[in-house]
Amino acid sequence: MSLFQEEFAATSAAMRVRFGAGVRHAVGEEMERLGLGRALILTTPQQAVTGAEFAERLGALAVGVFSGAAMHTPVAVSEEATAKALELQADCVVAVGGGSTTGLAKAIALRTDLPQIVVPTTYAGSEATGILGQTEGGRKTTITTPKVQPEVILYDAELVRSLPVGMTVTSALNAMAHAAEGLYAQNRSPISTLMALEGMKAFRDALPRVLDDPDDLQARGETLYGAWLCGTVLGQVGMALHHKLCHTLGGSFDLPHAETHAVILPHAIAYNEGAAADLLAPVAEMFGGPSPGAALHRFAVAMKAPLALRDLGMAEADLDRAAEIATQNPYWNPRPVEKGALRRLLQAAWAGDAPVA
Ligand code: NAD
Repeated sequence: MSLFQEEFAATSAAMRVRFGAGVRHAVGEEMERLGLGRALILTTPQQAVTGAEFAERLGALAVGVFSGAAMHTPVAVSEEATAKALELQADCVVAVGGGSTTGLAKAIALRTDLPQIVVPTTYAGSEATGILGQTEGGRKTTITTPKVQPEVILYDAELVRSLPVGMTVTSALNAMAHAAEGLYAQNRSPISTLMALEGMKAFRDALPRVLDDPDDLQARGETLYGAWLCGTVLGQVGMALHHKLCHTLGGSFDLPHAETHAVILPHAIAYNEGAAADLLAPVAEMFGGPSPGAALHRFAVAMKAPLALRDLGMAEADLDRAAEIATQNPYWNPRPVEKGALRRLLQAAWAGDAPVA
């Protein structure tokens, strides 16, 4: 496989993106640009204080704050927030938070077509995609539609300063996983590949500096640049084994989202490195390792990322069932997804061992 493809199609979403320390204060300016005047601000309960600060700064441009965003976008919460937006006659939503809060903004946009201004506070990258995952009655469904693509993203380095170091690392590896799988996606393009490599490089260079000094705004800004690039890749191309495994472990075994991505990434890439050798070779070079999976493992160790599923609450007795579920309805993957090999991958990831190719 060559990095350049003679034939390709690339679809980019219409989104306006701004970067800069303090750029969160431009929400009002961006609303006026779009002719909007009645914002409903969205946060999780944990970030309610930040939501109140946004409301205060926006003054008459804010009609309310809804601080009930929750992990995996439960439909009941989306319906409650949508009712509030309609009751307050909001003409846009402003999401301040991580993927959970952005998910709520998208769920409201799906139901009302209200424009979204997103101010991300993690590196998850949902703001850069037209993908919405929702849960109802314990079932997660995913839809992809331009209706949920946010219109404006404001990446403010000052807001990610409060992200605890552990979450900083797992959220960064979560973002890098979108880029890594984008490299071998069937519908990749030279443009998605450029963005994937640039996104991973941004994290490689900036994450160690953020860990040295979590208040380093220059480095925090670079990680947000990486988040946008990696999220954009996720929005443009299909994901494969890594994402299937993480969805299985999150959906059926209730493992935490970003941490699971962090643990699985080197293992999933090692699994695919033989089948997508040319496409993944830049990863080994970028992170300095004998192979792409080993290089990512080395980076994860250096960043003190969680390495073992057992530390996330996974029982060894459940590994067989996980391998079984992950081989059902498999996503397209460069290497056939075979149960025995997947079981070995899961064993190594459970124990925190180096990945096996
Ligand atoms: P999250 O949004 O669930 O946030 C986790 C916790 O951290 C929350 O309590 C939040 O309030 C808090 N938090 C966020 N930023 C903070 C900050 N700067 N300082 C202190 N606390 C902060 O976590 P996430 O990993 O960003 O998002 C995960 C969710 O996003 C999952 O449901 C996942 O499926 C979804 N997601 C969707 C897409 C997509 O394209 N649809 C992409 C990536 C992730």
